[in-house]
Amino acid sequence: MVGSFNKVNNTMSFNNLGLSEPLLKAVKEQGYTSPTPIQKQAIPVVIEGKDVLAAAQTGTGKTAGFTLPLLEKLSQTKPNMKKYQIRALILTPTRELAAQVAESFKVYGKYMPYTSTVIFGGVGINPQLATIRKGVDIVIATPGRLLDIAGQKGIDFSALETLVLDEADRMLDMGFIHDIKKLMKMMPKQKQTLLFSATFSSEIKKLASGLLKNPVLVEVAKENTTAEQISQVVHYVDKHRKRELLSQLIKTKKWEQVLVFTRTKHGANRLTKQLEEAGISAAAIHGNKSQGARTKALANFKANEIRVLVATDIAARGIDIDQLPHVVNYELPNVPEDYVHRIGRTGRAGQSGEAVSLVCVDEHKLLFDIEKFIKSEIKKVHIPAFTPDPNIKAEPIQKGRSGNARSNSRNRNRNRNK
Ligand code: AMP
Repeated sequence: MVGSFNKVNNTMSFNNLGLSEPLLKAVKEQGYTSPTPIQKQAIPVVIEGKDVLAAAQTGTGKTAGFTLPLLEKLSQTKPNMKKYQIRALILTPTRELAAQVAESFKVYGKYMPYTSTVIFGGVGINPQLATIRKGVDIVIATPGRLLDIAGQKGIDFSALETLVLDEADRMLDMGFIHDIKKLMKMMPKQKQTLLFSATFSSEIKKLASGLLKNPVLVEVAKENTTAEQISQVVHYVDKHRKRELLSQLIKTKKWEQVLVFTRTKHGANRLTKQLEEAGISAAAIHGNKSQGARTKALANFKANEIRVLVATDIAARGIDIDQLPHVVNYELPNVPEDYVHRIGRTGRAGQSGEAVSLVCVDEHKLLFDIEKFIKSEIKKVHIPAFTPDPNIKAEPIQKGRSGNARSNSRNRNRNRNK
């Protein structure tokens, strides 16, 4: 289960998984005492060279689950590399996740000689081209920019040994499938492929069957369930009073680090401004913000310089913040899976967490769908001063996935053409 690291396998150490000394040393420095279930299952089979299909959400320790064995495998051979060739590639849906996976390679590969680099859009391409030209072993990339680079012959996949598709479900949601397929065509058939996905839709199964050869199935979090350690509550509240309730919760409960989800980028900006006006430091991260602004907001949040980070679903993917105790759904997501992803930001690595959803009358259907999806009812806690006005009737919610710049702009174009 997600977040149950400390309870399982207390006696099992990292020593029996086939990792060599430089990696064990780096792991020890991180203070990890035992492998998480996904690490225990994935590390030995990846070292063996098998393809893996893994059902694992963020928060399960999945990143180390592929980073560690991948580094181990690299150390087992010493091929002669030509210019532009790379040995391992990790594809991720977002820039944030790419940066975090890159950070993992730095942390775990600290005592190994391998070089890695991260490639994503929204920043200049030339420094990225220059880095690859100089020679790197591992590339962590979002598909769009990597395809641009490959199109300019700025990278050579012919020596690729291992390909990892991280958060493959989200890459499909974001419309990266064509980019991924084009990239795959440039890669050798003979290679190891690892596919990580939080959910197993029929599209994921189809993608997996085309890409993986006799994969070993690794599954730790049961499909469509939420973390045990996360306490979940719903407060019913009128839409126009959500802001007031949120400020009150933050102040009275003395929350110091809160991640708040809104459905739209505009909503994220507006709420951030309103919180600031109420004397609560806040910053927004979403797809319209520059990479610099997103990185800065996240760094300030991690350093406890701002109290509230307001995010849309896509922007929040892959955000890795240790011990994040509170997640608030200021608005429920349109897609039930996103609820699971959102609340997975808290209660990580054995910590307990709290997920609070502010639900107005428009969102009752969304709540119903979420409860059906997670197969349990979320506790409703009534706050007397915020009793919803029974005269307010439900209004339809705008459809479409928040933060998904591609599909939103596609819809806009479609509307324009009507
Ligand atoms: P991930 O699922 O890869 O996003 O990892 C979630 C968090 O768990 C990260 O903050 C990791 O640093 C942490 N983590 C990974 N492996 C372990 C472990 N074996 N023991 C404790 N924490 C871990």
